[in-house]
Amino acid sequence: MALTGLDIYKQLPKTNCGECGLPTCLAFAMQLAAKKTSLDKCPHVTEEGRAALEGASAPPIRLVTIGTGEKKVGVGNETVLFRHEETFYHPTGIAITVNDDLEGDDLEKRIGAIQSLQFERVGQRIEINLVAIRQGDNSSAARYAEVVKKVMAKLDLPPILMSSSPESLEEALKVCAEMKPLIYAADSNNYEAVAKLAKDHSCPLTVKGNGLEELSSLTEKISSSGIQDLVLDSGRRDMVSTLSDLTQIRRLALRKTYRPLGYPTIAFTSEKDPFQETAQACAYIAKYANIVVLDGAEPWQLLPVLTLRQNIYTDPQKPIQVEPKVYEVGTVIDKSPVLVTTNFSLTYFTVEGDVEASKVASLIVVVDTEGTSVLTAWAAEKFTAESIASAVKKYTVEEKVSHRKLIIPGFVAVLSGKLEEELPGWKVLVGPRESSGIPTYLKNTWKEVSL
Ligand code: SF4
Repeated sequence: MALTGLDIYKQLPKTNCGECGLPTCLAFAMQLAAKKTSLDKCPHVTEEGRAALEGASAPPIRLVTIGTGEKKVGVGNETVLFRHEETFYHPTGIAITVNDDLEGDDLEKRIGAIQSLQFERVGQRIEINLVAIRQGDNSSAARYAEVVKKVMAKLDLPPILMSSSPESLEEALKVCAEMKPLIYAADSNNYEAVAKLAKDHSCPLTVKGNGLEELSSLTEKISSSGIQDLVLDSGRRDMVSTLSDLTQIRRLALRKTYRPLGYPTIAFTSEKDPFQETAQACAYIAKYANIVVLDGAEPWQLLPVLTLRQNIYTDPQKPIQVEPKVYEVGTVIDKSPVLVTTNFSLTYFTVEGDVEASKVASLIVVVDTEGTSVLTAWAAEKFTAESIASAVKKYTVEEKVSHRKLIIPGFVAVLSGKLEEELPGWKVLVGPRESSGIPTYLKNTWKEVSL
């Protein structure tokens, strides 16, 4: 169980020296209990006190890092069960499998397919993070290590080494241990040998149980041997049981501070139909897998998976924004239409995409609404006649076009009159309510009004 502020206070020096950045030891104890500071901020705590407080200062779900350098993946260290309570911090790692029975061109094709799984969305790059190299039942340790070496030579992704054989894992670690792969997996049959490999090579280790009880028992045994960077697999593969296990693990870790399950989790898709597999991966991202491993590697499968992850792991308090300014879409001339929108990324890129689709080169005036969408910004009085007029003046739109016509979103038609007062000489046109109506509007309505 988590220690209270008073429990923690009893272990502190009680000198109120302030070196931790807080005025009193009691204030520090309260902050530590709320997990808003860390024990290392107090330089005067005794060794005995440190040992006693270890539980209170450790995160309820350990942060585990797989890989090294720029591509390393951190999973875990989440603090809330529901995203609306705060935010989620470490996006689910998405892994694609490579089986070691692939030969020659088939192996090259699989690697090529994985390399291409990168997309641009709302101004951000989204991509897979890990490659899971799986040993087949009839493969040898030498064959497995050879495939691991080939894959690692071509793919700049942290690996997950998937084998139940300690001998095969040992051979594979000889070629990639310095990349700090995630070893998969220590189970009740092999955990002593596999845990030793993880310890010798300082690599993170997956612990695979047959249900949560066995899993807890295994993590306790393995962590007591000094290995702390663990990832949990409950061992079940059907979607209902897996979701139930993932939810229970997260609840026990966060709500009960249950240390044996206070580690990030891994889930594997089991559906053979690619549509079902995509849906399964999305369900695991939503609740609450820290790593999801898929067999499917089609771009159409991965784009929704990565999009969902991007949405879930965007801080709800800090929406993705674009820079407020005037954007030019296409080869703009002085007669090009001028549209107005907000600086919420999703809104801007939707509008930009629809303007592009219209093939009518246009200017888009992006108003600073602190990253909120049109109706939200209007309701919060951030997208007003004054703020739009101010943006039009600030970005000197009148110097970029010869006409004086401004197209506003249909949902804020009510702003037209006031906006014309704020921008003397300008005519305000009410565009479509939905961005999807922009191509038709620009091709038909704009052509008529601009004559
Ligand atoms: S640094 Fe330690 S001893 Fe000093 S006020 Fe903070 S908690 Fe107390």
